Amino acid sequence: MQNYINKLNELKESSSYRSIKNIEKRISKYIIVDDKKMLNLSSNDYLNVSTDKDLIFEFIDKYKNNDEFLFSSASARLLTGSSKSYIDLENIFSELFNKEAALIFNTGYQCNQGVVSSLFSKGDCIFSDKLNHASIVSGLKLSQAEHFRYKHNDYDNLEKLLKEKRALYKNAIIISESVFSMDGDIADIKKLVELKKKYNCLLMIDEAHAFGVFGQNLQGVSSELNLLNEIDIITITLGKSIASMGAICLSNRTIIDYLINKASSFIFSTVIPPINILWTKYLLQEKFDYLKNQKEKLSSLFKKVHNLYPSVSSSQIIPVVIKDAKKTKELAAYLQNKGYYVLPINPPTVPVGTSRLRISLTSNIEYNEIEKLFTEIKNATFLAK
Ligand code: PLP
Repeated sequence: MQNYINKLNELKESSSYRSIKNIEKRISKYIIVDDKKMLNLSSNDYLNVSTDKDLIFEFIDKYKNNDEFLFSSASARLLTGSSKSYIDLENIFSELFNKEAALIFNTGYQCNQGVVSSLFSKGDCIFSDKLNHASIVSGLKLSQAEHFRYKHNDYDNLEKLLKEKRALYKNAIIISESVFSMDGDIADIKKLVELKKKYNCLLMIDEAHAFGVFGQNLQGVSSELNLLNEIDIITITLGKSIASMGAICLSNRTIIDYLINKASSFIFSTVIPPINILWTKYLLQEKFDYLKNQKEKLSSLFKKVHNLYPSVSSSQIIPVVIKDAKKTKELAAYLQNKGYYVLPINPPTVPVGTSRLRISLTSNIEYNEIEKLFTEIKNATFLAK
């Protein structure tokens, strides 16, 4: 046990120790932690839907007598855990993204891990942005394929690797997030499409933080750029903007059939419950205009905030990079005391020396609330020491 105690102590000393917070309640844009009500600037509930009781009660009233109003699927999808509504949801997504097929995974983590680890094997290779999410990195580690991690959003570095390595392997894929989760910056998807064509690779884009926030019909950045048809594999999660649970992989029929047969995280896990599928369908089919309206509110908010606080971000995620882990922690505590629930993000979640506050904007937040927050950040004089 002593080795674990030592390692935990090391984490505490480097301000990287993680613990579960005493969260009492979330109410739209607010959160109550340790009896204190704060503006929630740390949630991925970008459209403020997850605690909307009007929507939840309307959903319950409408669907409580539905055969699929069930809290457990009691099985993996390939055994008895499937039904018409799962297929319907996949069809809704393949239509929305104009893709041949879609597959539900239980979480975005399982989706990325399953896709990346199963599609490529010995003799293949994967080119992955260095700041891609941990689920993609986990997939890389589990895959039998060789992988190369290019410098974040650095397409010269990616092309150099492609020139040197691509021809040595059979199949290849380039993987990037669209909106990066810790910086809020956006990949140059047009450039990625150009490189994938030039070097004969597939292209996978994780739209986890972009789905619901970008695109005329909420599909994400690739759709906003009219590039949906050029992306071979798109992954999205349903636990962020869409205030539900699960994830979707979109691609052609062959890739989806391959995943059904080979992706362990799909095959060997009890599928999310039917009630969750009904809820996602309800939001997408019956509340789509409301979601789009919330998206417009969020979009105009984050554009104004980018003027107030210019950073690498082009999205709803605003990084306030403090660099030093201890100072970041102190600033987060100071702001929480002032009524803003911001959390410090430290290594290993972000690279060493880039500790930051990750400010996550949601649609019901007012611009003047963010103005006041940045005044407080300026007033935190201890940061200068
Ligand atoms: N991909 C990205 C870019 C993410 O930020 C996350 C979660 O934070 C995931 C995937 C995983 O999604 P989920 O929370 O549904 O497991």
